[in-house]
Amino acid sequence: MNEDFTSTTESVDKLIQELNKLPGIGPKSAQRLAYYLLRASDEQTKLLAETILSVKQKTKLCSVCFNVTESEPCLICRSDQRDRSKICIVEQPQDVLALEHTKVYKGLYHVLHGAISPTEGVGADDIRIKELLGRLKDSQVGEVILATNTNLEGEQTALYLNKLISPLGIRVTRLAHGLPFGTELEYADDVTLTRAIEGRQEF
Ligand SMILES: [Zn+2]
Repeated sequence: MNEDFTSTTESVDKLIQELNKLPGIGPKSAQRLAYYLLRASDEQTKLLAETILSVKQKTKLCSVCFNVTESEPCLICRSDQRDRSKICIVEQPQDVLALEHTKVYKGLYHVLHGAISPTEGVGADDIRIKELLGRLKDSQVGEVILATNTNLEGEQTALYLNKLISPLGIRVTRLAHGLPFGTELEYADDVTLTRAIEGRQEF
């Protein structure tokens, strides 16, 4: 009978498998994390498990901007400190965090939850474009800032949105200076992002 000792127990294997599904976590990192959790105190692992469950239970998407929120609408959409004449369009909720961190932008947001990518089968109907157009129709928005990523999908999405929004008589701008092609917004540093949003240009 062939005995195989290359795997551990079923439950440890399962944990490694699940961790391996997380973005940026390869098999080796998954293994390291699994063994770290095995050694951690009951209290620590319980807190981690409960935190993961509670974030899923407590958060939802804002029905206006589709950012992650615990209140409806979200704090930014509800704030009277924000400039309601501007909507900045981003791909992911993390991008809102990155832009807020610069403290330069005071307008509203719209989170698309993805970008148009024919190669991955993501079309315009698969991201929150319809909802954006609905927002633009009923509001006093004078400027839309296209802050999608500067990679191929982000550029395609920006082009598509510009074609839809320009005819509505709304100024369309795009983040420009400082962001090199291929940059994902959430990884850009504050200075680069600040320059990008201040230097935005007519699209
Ligand atoms: Zn919102």
